[in-house]
Amino acid sequence: MNVTELSGVPDWLPDHLRDEGVEELYPPQAEAVEAGATEGESLVASVPTASGKTLIAELAMTASVARGGTALYIVPLRALAGEKRTEFEAFEQYGLTVGVSTGNYDSDGEWLATCDIIVATSEKVDSLVRNGAPWIDDLSCVVADEVHLVDDGNRGPTLEVTLAKLRQRNPGLQVVALSATIGNPEILAEWLDAELVDSTWRPIDLKKGVHYGQAVHLEDGNQRELQVRDGEKATEAIVRDTLNDGGSTLVFVNSRRNAEAAARRLAGTVENELTNEERTQLASVAAEIRDVSDTETSEDLASAVERGGAFHHAGLASEHRELVEGAFRDRLLKVVSATPTLAAGVNTPSRRVVVRDWRRYSGEAGGMAPLSVLEVHQMCGRAGRPGLDPYGEALLLAKSHDELDELFDRYIWTDPEAVRSKLAAEPALRTHLLATVASGFASSREGLLEFLDQTLYATQTTEGGRLERVTDDMLDYLEVNDFLERDGDDLTATSLGHTVSRLYLDPMSAAEIVDGLQTAEDRPSALGLFHLVSRTPDMYELYLRSGDREEYTMLANERETELLGMKPSEFEARWEDWLSALKTARLLEDWASELDESEITDRYSVGPGDLRGKVDTAEWLLSAAERLAGELGLEWAPAVREARTRVANGIRTELIDLAGVRGVGRKRARRLYEAGIETRTDLRNADKAVVLGALRGRRKTAENVLDNVGRTDPSMADVEADGSVAVVGE
Ligand code: ADP
Repeated sequence: MNVTELSGVPDWLPDHLRDEGVEELYPPQAEAVEAGATEGESLVASVPTASGKTLIAELAMTASVARGGTALYIVPLRALAGEKRTEFEAFEQYGLTVGVSTGNYDSDGEWLATCDIIVATSEKVDSLVRNGAPWIDDLSCVVADEVHLVDDGNRGPTLEVTLAKLRQRNPGLQVVALSATIGNPEILAEWLDAELVDSTWRPIDLKKGVHYGQAVHLEDGNQRELQVRDGEKATEAIVRDTLNDGGSTLVFVNSRRNAEAAARRLAGTVENELTNEERTQLASVAAEIRDVSDTETSEDLASAVERGGAFHHAGLASEHRELVEGAFRDRLLKVVSATPTLAAGVNTPSRRVVVRDWRRYSGEAGGMAPLSVLEVHQMCGRAGRPGLDPYGEALLLAKSHDELDELFDRYIWTDPEAVRSKLAAEPALRTHLLATVASGFASSREGLLEFLDQTLYATQTTEGGRLERVTDDMLDYLEVNDFLERDGDDLTATSLGHTVSRLYLDPMSAAEIVDGLQTAEDRPSALGLFHLVSRTPDMYELYLRSGDREEYTMLANERETELLGMKPSEFEARWEDWLSALKTARLLEDWASELDESEITDRYSVGPGDLRGKVDTAEWLLSAAERLAGELGLEWAPAVREARTRVANGIRTELIDLAGVRGVGRKRARRLYEAGIETRTDLRNADKAVVLGALRGRRKTAENVLDNVGRTDPSMADVEADGSVAVVGE
């Protein structure tokens, strides 16, 4: 189908698409249009990675807006919201407005009411619904990207419940669900009353295979020699081989830390092959990376980029991610090692893909667990650049003959799994039942069960009565903890219940926090508060390693008076969790005591991204704790706020004032403080030479900082740095 044949879309769209190089629709796109995508029909598109799902969404959304409606695009990861916004911003020249809603989970995002297209994560949409965002009722089209993630135990239920709520609110709502190829797309279509486009078409051929020994074994039965030199790893050999052939390689690994380590090593493989021109351009990308921030991660990334490699994961700053994606698409970077985030949403085709790790650590499994076929196929799908490569090649790596056979059986010759709803798990239901009542979607047990009947779980289950049983258990829990009141069949959320729902907390986290704060006799210490929030199910715990049990039992005894709530005995089942929470709490305390990032990552064997994840979660939970303290009239709100500010900035108490200035992080605040500038007022009145010295002579930085603190004459034009302070803090 040619783009000029499209009906129902705005007049400008065909020309716009042609300007973007799209003349003919890809077959799955044409099928979607035939199924009514541009006429408000609901649709499930189960199509391979990189086969143009975004355009299906764009056709539906722009057609919906042309009919006077509003479209919502639900992204699976916060990290992808910015990327989608940038894509849709191309429509702004035709008068559409595009808004992205990230940020805190407790506002109603009123300003979004003026947007034609809104981009948000499912958690964010869920929270906007809970906070009563009025524009939710005006939606005419909702796109769920990567809808197969309803299968994810942690996040799937939120997507599932959110779609059910949006459909309940807006009876004629068009739902466009985009999915990777899965085993049972029909069930999704049945659930959403949607047409199904189920296709295996790809714009470029994909050959999958396994590297073993000195050869690549392809799925079509062919073998090709690929020599691994002495002392070299298979991945290095493949990257070298691809580069000799003029292509670049995307390597998927199982953790952020491994992505960083692989980038360091693989950059060594490609650096000698770079041209001078490439070196110069890469150096300028590296300089831009360093300009974004002066963290260790930034430095690590920049030094890999200078040598032609990079890593990519969701822990990177979005500016960093964009620079890496851009340089990879421009073929400047020869190798990128990535966690699966890149496979899911970012459009970065590559001649070759290597799935280096096919197992990853899983808390649930208590050890290494194999990736799903679906995930591996999504990674493989990034291989091959349409128009540039004859075909894409995706390789897994085997270390033995048995593993070669296993990988073929497990991933190459096997279709992706069926997706299954995870809604009936207790933590998910506990949270969503409270929210469903608090935000007015149900006001009785009967009503709740009717609502739950609209979910994928209900469409899919064969286990009659299970949902009802778990629902009753969870209602009991919510009532006992004062989040809900029951009067016969009627349900109402208490004021505490409303707050918890709006704060986006798991009710069990809220109950733990409330109990800890209520039983505190003295002003809680930062460690005590860090431990309290680390105990909640909303914080991903650190695991105890050998030797940790003794170490943290000692710490628990030493600092017993600081720890809030009842301490379990060593014989109770929850003792283990209590100790791991203490380990997390001490990590947070180290961070808030200005220990170096690298010392922390070494001490706790975590990656910088993990540290950042913990810090962000602690900050969010402590701000929720502050609100709960306020709600319950407890006197500890200021102590909670102080702990939150410290952990958010990674600083001791005395730096709180300074670190509030934009552009002043923990390190700069400390250097300023050591140079005698202790407060914002000091900074406003300080000798510029001292400021410049403390900021290591960086004029631009110093000017920005002074500007941000409100100094009228921030110019550093003729200032000489005060050498006596330049080395402080180094
Ligand atoms: P998916 O979301 O399925 O992974 P994308 O939507 O990111 O895939 O599409 C992959 C690439 O294909 C994008 O660069 C997009 O611009 C391009 N593309 C999509 N549809 C067409 C088309 N009909 N003709 C040419 N290029 C297309």
